[in-house]
Amino acid sequence: MSNNDGFGTRAIHAGQHPDEATGAIMPPVYMTSTYVQSAPGEIKGYDYSRTCNPTRTALEGNIAGLEGGAHGLCFSSGMAAINTFMNLLQSGDHVIATNDLYGGTYRLCTTLYEKFGLSFTFLDMTDLDAVRAAIRPETKMMFIETPSNPLLRIYDLTALAEICKAHDILSVCDNTFATPYNQTPLAHGFQAVVHSTTKYMGGHSDVVGGAIVVDDQELRDKLHHFQNTVGGTPGPMDCFLVLRGTKTLHVRMQRHAENAAQIARDLEEHPKVSKVIYPGLESHPQHALATKQMRTPGGMVSFELDASVEEAMKVASSFRVFALAESLGGVESLVDHPVSMTHGAIPREERIKAGFQDGLIRLSVGLEDVDDLREDVRNAIAVL
Ligand SMILES: *Cc1c(COP(=O)(O)O)cnc(C)c1O
Repeated sequence: MSNNDGFGTRAIHAGQHPDEATGAIMPPVYMTSTYVQSAPGEIKGYDYSRTCNPTRTALEGNIAGLEGGAHGLCFSSGMAAINTFMNLLQSGDHVIATNDLYGGTYRLCTTLYEKFGLSFTFLDMTDLDAVRAAIRPETKMMFIETPSNPLLRIYDLTALAEICKAHDILSVCDNTFATPYNQTPLAHGFQAVVHSTTKYMGGHSDVVGGAIVVDDQELRDKLHHFQNTVGGTPGPMDCFLVLRGTKTLHVRMQRHAENAAQIARDLEEHPKVSKVIYPGLESHPQHALATKQMRTPGGMVSFELDASVEEAMKVASSFRVFALAESLGGVESLVDHPVSMTHGAIPREERIKAGFQDGLIRLSVGLEDVDDLREDVRNAIAVL
């Protein structure tokens, strides 16, 4: 868990400059829609706040610095950021994506873009031969999430980036679950990273936001063109809140991972738990890959109880420190029963086939005292 790669210093300083007018160490929250021009067309870098805003610029520089990319673009939500990638495509194009995508992304693909003539193949990308076989001449983009949700599968960033490069496919990684503290997909050869900053990046469950980081100027300009044309840009207060979060990302992520690892070890020894899914456990099918490509295995833990949907719902409702809620990545611990909450839209047969049972529980392990969390997990399972 070494921090000696300058991440902590970048988290606090990347993209940050004291305010020129006053020396304020924090960027002011520029609550303005427009900027006065000294002559028609003569601006000081800012003309209209859908296009750009100085508080947003400070956040964009910070997130770009953390992901190790040249350009950041911030959005009003993770979905607004993901949608911008879809705008790059045109009718007839084909996209390959992981088959355990965030539900909102799956919904965007299937209910919004299929009708405009885009096609999608969703597959398990732990099988690299299957990935190669899914590529067609019209395949233009790969979209992945690793770790995935809620089964926490790990996909090989380097191998997938190479496949994309060989076939001239735009490679996009949703890095929300890992955060740049744990992995930087651009360093593995991915061309673009996208985030829901609502989760770990903001980290305090008080703001909804999204971000994109890329290295290539031309790609940045295209994405910015769509962003500026469509909107979906964040307000300055939201940018300020996310920026306040990113500055402590390294400290929070370390503790999330420590607490999660302890909970995962406890669960592994619990007689009523049939399976624990945490990339840090040797029992995880991609444990070696996780160790190689991630700094820590992250703060999310899933586990299976040999229980019916109703029994699992009862357990999920019995936590006292973990709050029963969707979302993840905040300082507060959250518990989710995916079948009845976040992943309710997936037909039962399909999810069972994917290894996703009725009794699956997902934990976003927060920053409370770990002994309180351990006791809470024990007590909740005891109602079975
Ligand atoms: C939450 C989430 C999103 C969507 O982000 P919003 O900020 O809710 O729009 C996308 N991808 C992943 C992995 C998420 O967890």
